[in-house]
Amino acid sequence: MSSERSSRISGFYKMPVEERVKAISDQVGLTPEEQKLLKSGGGLSLEAADHMTENVVGTIAYPFSVAVNFKLNGRDVFIPMAGEEPSVVAAASNMARIMRNGPGINVISTPPVMIGQIQLTDVPDMKKAVRVLKEKKQQLIEMANEVDPVLVKFGGGAKDMELRPLETSAGPMLVVHLLVDCRDAMGANAVNTMAETLAPMLGELTGAKPLLRIISNLADRRTCRAEAVVKKEDIGGEDKVDRIVQAWAFADADPYRAATHNKGIMNGIVAVALAFAQDHRALEAGAHSYAARTGRYRSLSRWSKNGDGDLVGVLEMPMAVGLVGGATRSHPMAQLAVKILGCTKAQELGEAMTAVGLAQNLGALRALTQEGIQHGHMRLHARNLVVMAGATSDMVEEAVKQLAESGQIRFNKAQEIVAKLKGQA
Ligand code: NAD
Repeated sequence: MSSERSSRISGFYKMPVEERVKAISDQVGLTPEEQKLLKSGGGLSLEAADHMTENVVGTIAYPFSVAVNFKLNGRDVFIPMAGEEPSVVAAASNMARIMRNGPGINVISTPPVMIGQIQLTDVPDMKKAVRVLKEKKQQLIEMANEVDPVLVKFGGGAKDMELRPLETSAGPMLVVHLLVDCRDAMGANAVNTMAETLAPMLGELTGAKPLLRIISNLADRRTCRAEAVVKKEDIGGEDKVDRIVQAWAFADADPYRAATHNKGIMNGIVAVALAFAQDHRALEAGAHSYAARTGRYRSLSRWSKNGDGDLVGVLEMPMAVGLVGGATRSHPMAQLAVKILGCTKAQELGEAMTAVGLAQNLGALRALTQEGIQHGHMRLHARNLVVMAGATSDMVEEAVKQLAESGQIRFNKAQEIVAKLKGQA
């Protein structure tokens, strides 16, 4: 990733869109064509959309934003985010600003290893099957690698095999896990192809019947970790630190709270995933299954107080993302997102996503333990309401101000204010 950028752009959120585009362009060197694409309203032609999925009759656009202030491992980055929910990008940028007062956000990831599962049913002799497959492991790994020489050339490919006898309601089964380093691919196609290739041979060697051959979205071998220290004075003092730790403990102890807590983390992660045309369903599945890995659904993050009374946050979770394959290569906006972040490896994208998840989580915890979540939300919601009520762009700011001041952030009030402003125009 580029190291010369400064992602600390004061007042970025107040700039008109044109100025924001210029500010980002100046920092990351966008061409006039790329700037035009940013303003094109989605960047995906009907023809390209028609090649991407089936039964296409149109396209749908989301706001494409850039989160500022992020410093990852000492380097400043701009992180593209897309989505329909107000306050997500604002909270991420705001918390990243607080986090950069300390050493910034430290990020690290494991090698990008995904798991392919091959289900063997009707195993005649479980012990024998396990023994035979252990003996043939190396040969089987080589056989899997023969189907993807490109992945192997880039240093990836099948690396290991694990055997998991499983008791199920339909009887005992042997589940073979193929561990595949997917390098810069998300890897589902690559892994599924390998699993399908191996299945008949596994059946032959064990006398069992192969059934499913498919990637696991519980990508617990492919994780990213983000950690940040927030100085107590930047979050309102040590008592506010204690409150955040208590709020986190609630989520970690109670699945009802953990679901919403983790949803907040995914607000950020899925927004980055959308901007990069990633498989966000795979990320959601990975996140929530990982959150339940101890047998109870818990918080994905951990928050604690260190010896100085400062707040320490850690987020560790599966990160099955790719820069090759999938739609990231074929969607022009996703390619632009890659340029804005300046990432060359899939792991860098995963690390940026995890950092956003951590910042997002702090934004929610801070709001919930201080002024309450509706305070910030309602101001942003006011903007949606006045636009829905027909405010023209020149009157949006004034209408939002009046609506917020009225203390009645409701649609009928927005209509009343907009009608009055229109009458004055
Ligand atoms: P892919 O098959 O299109 O691309 C991966 C291939 O690119 C590799 O197999 C390799 O041959 C090649 N490659 C070139 N350069 C590479 C590099 N530097 N690093 C790694 N590989 C390189 O895509 P994929 O990532 O295997 O599959 C992703 C797609 O699969 C997504 O669109 C996803 O939505 C879909 N999918 C997901 C699931 C699931 O998550 N359960 C299931 C099926 C399909």
